[in-house]
Amino acid sequence: RAKANGKNCFHFFTPSLERIAQHRLQMETELRRAIEQDQLELYYQPKVFLQSDPRGARTGQLHSFEALLRWQRPDGSFVSPESFIHIAEEAGMISQIGQMVVEKACHQARQWLNEGYESNISINLSPRQFLIPGFHEDIVDTIRSYGIPSAMISVEITESLLMQDLVSARGVLEYFRAHDVFVYLDDFGSGFSSLNYLKTLPVDAIKIDRTFVRDLSTSSADRAIANTIITLGKQLNKLIVAEGIETVEQANFLIDSGCDLAQGYFYGRPVNGESARHYFQLSPTLPAATSPLAKPGA
Ligand code: C2E
Ligand code: MG
Ligand code: MG
Ligand code: MG
Repeated sequence: RAKANGKNCFHFFTPSLERIAQHRLQMETELRRAIEQDQLELYYQPKVFLQSDPRGARTGQLHSFEALLRWQRPDGSFVSPESFIHIAEEAGMISQIGQMVVEKACHQARQWLNEGYESNISINLSPRQFLIPGFHEDIVDTIRSYGIPSAMISVEITESLLMQDLVSARGVLEYFRAHDVFVYLDDFGSGFSSLNYLKTLPVDAIKIDRTFVRDLSTSSADRAIANTIITLGKQLNKLIVAEGIETVEQANFLIDSGCDLAQGYFYGRPVNGESARHYFQLSPTLPAATSPLAKPGA
């Protein structure tokens, strides 16, 4: 294509492609070093109850955590997982990172348990991990090796074209279910075949993608989509989680719609393990949305 556009285009594209490749290689090298030097860290973001629940949960109370990977470079800058997970996948490092993530999450769960806090932590799985034979058994073995109940760790999977092999994906998820590892279907609605995934895969919970939550106050289409996902999910007996709640209006809408759990900056940002401890203390007074429907007993 560049040729058809004339000779000058080569001068324009070539250095830039080189730069991209170089930058990529540099990131890969840095990432490898960061893994070796243990510079990757898990942050924890709370998921909270939106509905009061028969076991005594109150709106805004801590339900569990999601572990989110953070890479801070020596110069202090953060690299987004959206970009470095991608590099890790292509450079064949995802197996190592996946193993590190489950170990760090188990270590944290173990530490909290020792302090008397029992809380579930969900870890994100890359679709590429499904291509690694036995990765699900490794996860369960690792959880066991930390001496914590396997129900303390759950997994979040995304619908992805990489997971085209629904038969083996199903087997993996059934294995998790048989070992009490709860499965969230992440970013629901943003992919290509959501309903097929929902029909085929034994998942326990659905996370409504943030893009449908963002404009709830202004978009009647997004309100309709959110309501429909919640109704559908409930009929299929799934727990429904909404991601990316930033405002009280979004929270109130989701409470009134019957959504079970929420996650977002409104309820709490991802923080390191040390700071996440505060969420245990603060959980009963996290900002609860003020819908009258949400008040226990109202
Ligand atoms: P995700 O699993 O869908 O995680 C939710 C993302 O939304 C996180 O971004 C979180 O920080 C962000 N978020 C949470 N609440 C809000 C909010 O109220 N507003 C906005 N604007 N954003 C919010 P993060 O941490 O940058 O992670 C991005 C993605 O990277 C994750 O999406 C997940 O797919 C992937 N990822 C993160 N950690 C891991 C990991 O340990 N392993 C793998 N394989 N993927 C990971
Ligand atoms: Mg997730
Ligand atoms: Mg998500
Ligand atoms: Mg995502």
